[in-house]
Amino acid sequence: MVLTSVEKSEKTYRRGEPGYEEARRATVWNGLLPDRFPDVIVQAHDTDDVVAALRYARANGHKVGVRSGGHSWAASHLRDGGLLLDVSRLDHCTVDTAGMTADVGPGKSASDFATELDSQGLFFPSGHCEGIRLGGFLLQGGYGWNSPAIGLACESVLGLEVVTADGERIYCDPENHPDMYWAARGAGPGFFGVVTGFKLRIHRRPAVVGTCLYMYPIELVDEVYTWGREISSEVDKRVELQILATQANPAAAIDHPTITIASPVFAESEEEAAKALALLGTCPVADKSMISVPYMPTTLANWYTAVMTNYPKGHRYIVDNMFTSASAAELLPGIRKIIETMPPHPSHFIFTGWNASPDRVDKVYGLEDEIYMALYTVWQNPSDDERYRDWSASNMAAMSHLATGIALADENLGRRPARFITEPNMARLDEVRSAYDPEGRFHSWMGYEGK
Ligand SMILES: Cc1cc2nc3c(=O)[nH]c(=O)nc-3n(C[C@H](O)[C@H](O)[C@H](O)COP(=O)(O)OP(=O)(O)OC[C@H]3O[C@@H](n4cnc5c(N)ncnc54)[C@H](O)[C@@H]3O)c2cc1C
Repeated sequence: MVLTSVEKSEKTYRRGEPGYEEARRATVWNGLLPDRFPDVIVQAHDTDDVVAALRYARANGHKVGVRSGGHSWAASHLRDGGLLLDVSRLDHCTVDTAGMTADVGPGKSASDFATELDSQGLFFPSGHCEGIRLGGFLLQGGYGWNSPAIGLACESVLGLEVVTADGERIYCDPENHPDMYWAARGAGPGFFGVVTGFKLRIHRRPAVVGTCLYMYPIELVDEVYTWGREISSEVDKRVELQILATQANPAAAIDHPTITIASPVFAESEEEAAKALALLGTCPVADKSMISVPYMPTTLANWYTAVMTNYPKGHRYIVDNMFTSASAAELLPGIRKIIETMPPHPSHFIFTGWNASPDRVDKVYGLEDEIYMALYTVWQNPSDDERYRDWSASNMAAMSHLATGIALADENLGRRPARFITEPNMARLDEVRSAYDPEGRFHSWMGYEGK
């Protein structure tokens, strides 16, 4: 043992010792806890603890997994053997309203951050659910509120404090360690350093937050998705086109299968918001919708409440996803199959008009395309594991000939390997990794070990 700070019982749990299993369970948000067991779990309270843990890992030949909020669906941080470094307690947050920047820790909840900014007339493209931490969210790219207009959240990262594989503290931005700065914008679970702080650009809050709400019976699947695919590239940048299919919709008190179009809009006036949403009222079967609200004002708090009805805590989740530019005719057979076989609510299928990215900044992120589709299998009872385990992956696998790639946000790489970074970017990332983590101290994406 090299450093005493990782020996303090309140911060360190070794496999087989009291408290270990509780600490392991607490690192994973998903109710489905994988049978993977690190040798030691270290709960860092500050950057000194991170430095000490990395030096300890190096001295003992441990590989390192890092956890901020543990919302990775696949629990990517949780691996067999080695050291698991939990940095969720690094959750500081200082906002400079004059400079329009914020210094935040990786353990800061993205939704708390958004809510605190909201109360000051400020804004950040935080994720659509409560509780995700900024650490993992920003590293994997971060598709958040109003991202079509203001970009992925990682595009608002101005710089970051990182502890490297050998325990050195560095600051990364376009002038200092620019390769690490680039890698931190999208490498996600393949990042090879521990982020202990981010400097973020914050934005002014748009004056109006609103939504539309249309609900269609599931039988109109062909008409709704054909139309949704056709209009996707014309949707106003201030609108996030979201088409959600579920077996029930408790938020709208509906207990049978529906397709819901509830799309956030961010604008400077109600008139502008309603105008931006107008295209979403043009579905050819609009007269058959069960609910039809072209525009209503709402709040970020209401949005979080509504979204979380699809992501209850304590449930078991397996997800998968794909980007595509395929036509509606090509996509429909797969979409029909998804809908025919969909497990009960809260399981759901999201079809998103992506519109998010066009190379605004140099970043490692992605294989984005016009449409993003994601499947969320959600169930509660362990006796249903076998029954539901394959729904997300098998449906995405069946459509993989139409996929450009996948997003790390909803990755399922341990079960279904798929491409998520362009080949040139992957080659450059491998070079940067070799320079900063030559011994492969950090775990990489599941299914990509050894690179
Ligand atoms: C309910 C729910 C809703 C979601 N909604 C969205 C959404 O709207 N938009 C979106 O883009 N994503 C969304 N996601 C995906 C989510 O953003 C990612 O899973 C993200 O990685 C979670 O961050 P975390 O810190 O909580 O997770 P963690 O599991 O702690 O982190 C994921 C991985 O990132 C790496 N990592 C984390 N922190 C650090 C660090 N400090 N230093 C180095 N590496 C680190 C590790 O490799 C870790 O395995 C959602 C996930 C859930 C569960």
